[in-house]
Amino acid sequence: MHKTNTLADENLAVNPLKHIFNEFTEWKFWWKVHKREPDECWPWLGGKSAQGYGQFCIKSKPFLTHRLAWMFTHQSAVPDGKRVILKCRNRRCCNPAHIAIGTHKDQATTGLKSGSIKNEAYIYSYVPNVEVTV
Ligand SMILES: [Zn+2]
Repeated sequence: MHKTNTLADENLAVNPLKHIFNEFTEWKFWWKVHKREPDECWPWLGGKSAQGYGQFCIKSKPFLTHRLAWMFTHQSAVPDGKRVILKCRNRRCCNPAHIAIGTHKDQATTGLKSGSIKNEAYIYSYVPNVEVTV
């Protein structure tokens, strides 16, 4: 009995993403999203990061909301080496229809096409996933 609990705790420590995937956290997350028409942006109504991205804290750790929206929709962690791309470039948008998974290059291309990225330096200074300072 004790041994089982210890193992479970260790797993949580090794993989903090397990904290994300419970129904209550998911419910709390979507409760702060303004769900509008399927093709419209669904703005995050909670806090934001210094870079203007929506931010939601789980166990005191800040996560970017478009990444969480993708993870909750797909019930999966973001695969290694992949980026979560906000196709609409609205940093607070959580509409799964506006969020895609791709490579770093896809992300840069999306930004360049939409005109929101002006130069290469910006592309390579892209905000990382969870290491957001409040
Ligand atoms: Zn959007």
